Amino acid sequence: MNERDSEILSQSLSQHDYIETMNIDSADLIILNTCSIRAKAEQKVMSLLGYLRKNKQRNPDLKICVAGCVAQQQGESLIERMPHVNLVIGTQHIYNIANLLKESEKISVVKTTLDKNYVIPSFIPDVQPVDSVVTDMVTQENEFSRFVTIMQGCNNYCTYCVVPYTRGREVSRKVKDIVEEVKVLVHSGVQEITLLGQNVNSYGMTNAVTDDGSPFAFNQLLREVSSISGLRRLRFTTSNPKDLSEDLMKCFVDLDNLCPQFHLPVQSGSNQILQRMNRKYTREKYLELVESLRRYCPEIALTTDIIVGFPGESTKDFMETMNLLETVRFHGSFSFKYSDRPGTASVKLNNKVSEEDKSERLAFFQKRQKEISLERNLEFLDKSLEVLVESCGEDSYKCRTKTNHVVHVDSTLPLTPGQLVNVKINHAGHHSLKGSALVGNRN
Ligand code: SAH
Ligand code: SF4
Repeated sequence: MNERDSEILSQSLSQHDYIETMNIDSADLIILNTCSIRAKAEQKVMSLLGYLRKNKQRNPDLKICVAGCVAQQQGESLIERMPHVNLVIGTQHIYNIANLLKESEKISVVKTTLDKNYVIPSFIPDVQPVDSVVTDMVTQENEFSRFVTIMQGCNNYCTYCVVPYTRGREVSRKVKDIVEEVKVLVHSGVQEITLLGQNVNSYGMTNAVTDDGSPFAFNQLLREVSSISGLRRLRFTTSNPKDLSEDLMKCFVDLDNLCPQFHLPVQSGSNQILQRMNRKYTREKYLELVESLRRYCPEIALTTDIIVGFPGESTKDFMETMNLLETVRFHGSFSFKYSDRPGTASVKLNNKVSEEDKSERLAFFQKRQKEISLERNLEFLDKSLEVLVESCGEDSYKCRTKTNHVVHVDSTLPLTPGQLVNVKINHAGHHSLKGSALVGNRN
């Protein structure tokens, strides 16, 4: 989500004659788009801001802007700690970056109000045909794949999570704005779209997304976007298991360009911990969902998020998470040590788990996940798969399967980024696959 917000910031500014540079020392404007989901991410922002003091001394005209969740959470106090910052811009104001930069020319500005009735602006990026996007300064790694925001904020209040406080109440974007943005991107040559929201399954539930106010659920949005002519691949993230519907699962049967991949964060395998997290589903319900998803789409690749060491997590609770990993055998996962976030309910929970135990559990989980990911990857050996060529490396092409696996492909014929080709998988590693392009079978 932050990646898409960074794109919005840069696209808004390019419409006001700013030019992006990859060289921080030659920049006249530096924007740090920040994340505060865990303490570590926030600490990184603070140390980078401290470091940028020197840049400001060297170039007093340099403007420094902090955007995103750290900006939202700290507001005025950020300027008090870091007076060299010119603009602090909260999560609902990024579309207004150009005006706010003007306002902050003479005096530091903090804009972090969160409006309960916020409407996501109808922002359609100014895009050029994708193969002409490459400039001498910026080379986007994969210009054929794009994120499109469909909602912002969250109403779920999982007890560990800062998102409802930093991104505000859940609001869904209008169907016609989403469809128009996807059409513009596809028309410019983009092949793959990922729809983004904190909980896409509750799309359209908190505000009207159609002109006449008629209800429109996420599975309907998927069908609508999927039918856009020229769109080869469609993905979405993230889904809270509590709202995953049968109607959504059916889309995997009906929509040819919907990729067989599902990120379904479970967080913990223990019912006691899930309840303390306020996740509103049980381990049994989660396993049922996995079974149904696999029934609808047997080749689906499942990934998840895990938090280890949530307050009150005993060794037995943690072993239930390990047991869930063995049962589902996720293709991959993102796993984190629990981190206290200011203002969240879990800060006040007792029975905090020691740093040492958290580190030990995380390492144990990640070691086993790595083995399982390799075993899962080995299942692809000798298979012929369609991949999207993303970029050319020195001795191979970086490509991606529909299941979202990276494949390094060698080919006797030149391949072009954006092309869909069939490859035969001949090697499986922990993190990626290798394969050879099948001659005469290119799309
Ligand atoms: N909306 C998504 C999660 C978005 S946050 C969902 O409901 O699943 C991305 C991930 O960060 C979460 O899934 C969780 O695993 C992790 N995370 C969030 N807050 C955290 C915290 N306080 N400590 C550790 N990990 C956290
Ligand atoms: Fe955070 Fe829970 Fe909302 Fe996900 S669903 S963003 S974890 S509060």
